Order: sequence, then structure tokens, then C-alpha cells
Amino acid sequence: MIKRVISSLAWIVLLAMPFHGFANPKGIKHVILIGFDGWGAYSVPNADMPTAKMMMKKGAFSLTNRSVLPSSSAVNWASMLMVAPPELHGYTQWGSQTPELPSRVIGPGGIFPSVLGQLKTQKPALKTAVIYNWDGVGYLFEQKMTDTVINASKDEEVIDKAVGVIKDIKPDFLFIHFDEPDGVGHGAGHDTPAYYEQLEKNDVYLTKVLQAVKDAGLEKGTLIIVAADHGGINKGHGSISMAEMQTPLIFFGKGVRQQPEMQQSIMIYDIGATIAWLFDLKFPQVWTGRPIKEAFR
Ligand SMILES: [Zn+2]
Repeated sequence: MIKRVISSLAWIVLLAMPFHGFANPKGIKHVILIGFDGWGAYSVPNADMPTAKMMMKKGAFSLTNRSVLPSSSAVNWASMLMVAPPELHGYTQWGSQTPELPSRVIGPGGIFPSVLGQLKTQKPALKTAVIYNWDGVGYLFEQKMTDTVINASKDEEVIDKAVGVIKDIKPDFLFIHFDEPDGVGHGAGHDTPAYYEQLEKNDVYLTKVLQAVKDAGLEKGTLIIVAADHGGINKGHGSISMAEMQTPLIFFGKGVRQQPEMQQSIMIYDIGATIAWLFDLKFPQVWTGRPIKEAFR
């Protein structure tokens, strides 16, 4: 009798324990982070982006996600992936390849710990992939600890490779970085007809990612996050204005709580924190980002 009580107790304990396999606390099996370089939140009301707007409507979104200063690329992609501000990771400029300030902590990959390195350290069975076009992204995560790394030469190649990777490899975590609309922002200028034309192309990339997820049979377990590093004003960015410092952030798919625009404060490093939280990672003490729990059920 006592034995039987003990064994049923054991079952209750076992069943109550969180599952530490491929599934995370929300039952999300795959996370795809899509980054659009230089997509300012200011552009959303005027942008013809039906897929992005469908994702916002059916998911959770913010138009007040804030960049760290300076409102430039490497410093902000680093903050997103490294779950900390530049004062800690040390990458402080638009094109930082190595930290200008000593990183406060060096992780197992030889640089400040990023989500990619921590995923591989803590959950080695998970498959990770990064596909990017702008070379600068390649310095901001632990390449040797990432299963698939593709440095494409243009955004059209990024999307083609991404579709292939989603279907063939089915990575648990995939980061897809698109170099536009940043280039058009520098050329024709932000908030110009050319910039909005480029955003229509970015929306097509979103449509293609969603289709690839569907074709791969991953639709039911996939969370998609769309984010940017900074916005812009006139023909640039890097300084202090909300047009440069506020970017759209969208959560869509598995586990997301459909809602009107999220109201809580969100910083760019909270995006990496959210990914780490969803994969049930233990946070390195040096990380300061907080998961955006408001977005989930
Ligand atoms: Zn730029």
C-alpha cells in the first residue's frame, strides 16, 4: 500500500515537472527572429505591408520598442542578441566588429554571451541557424557555436536561403537578418516613396517565411518575431530622436496572446531575453534584458 502511494506520488511529481526537451514553457518548438535593418516604427501607419499588419492584428506588437544609443546597427543587433546594453557588451558603434569597451563578461564562445552561444551551451541538442547579408552581423554572435551560418550577398539571397533552411533543416532557433530598408533610408531617405516601396518588398519576405513555415509543416509550433535595430530620419540615423530610436516589434504564432498594441516598456535587449526565456535558458548574471511576457498566453 505504502509502495503504491509512493509510486503514484512519484507520477504526480513527474507529471508536474516542466518538460526540458525540445519544447519550451509555452509549447513553442521553433522560434524565427526576422530582423529588418533600419525599419522605423514611424513608417507603420503609411506602410503598405499587409502581411506585417495581419501579424500585428492576430498577434502582439509594439511600436515603441526602443533602441539603445547610438541608434545604429551593430550596437543594437549586439544588444538584441546579447541581452544587454552597450555599456556591458562593449559594442558601441554602427559597425563594431570587436568591442570598443571591454565586454563585462566573456562567455564560452570567446565573446560576450549571446542567445546563440547560450542555446548551444545549455541545450546542445537544439538546432540553431543564422542567415544574414550585412557582414557586420557576423561578429555579434558565436559563429562556431551556431549549427548553420549563411552569409548571403543580398536580401533576395537571404530569403531564398531562409526558405530552404526552414524546409530542410527545421531549426529550433533561426535568425534571419535583412539589410533593407536601411540602405534605401541612406540613399533616397527615410519616409520617402522609395522607402515605402522597399517596405513592400520586406513584406513579401515575411509572406515567404510564413509560407515556408507552412510548407515545412511547422505552423502549429512556430513563433515568429519581427524586429528592427533602429529607424531613421532624413538620410540616416545614429542620433537622438524617436524616429531613429523606435522600431516595430511583432510576435506572431504559437503561444502569442492576441491583443491591441502592447503598452509596457520594451527595450531592444528584451527581445533576446524573451527568446532565452522561451527556450527555458538560465540567464547569465550579466544579462539585463527581461522577457516580454505580456506578449504570451
Ligand atoms: Zn544605416
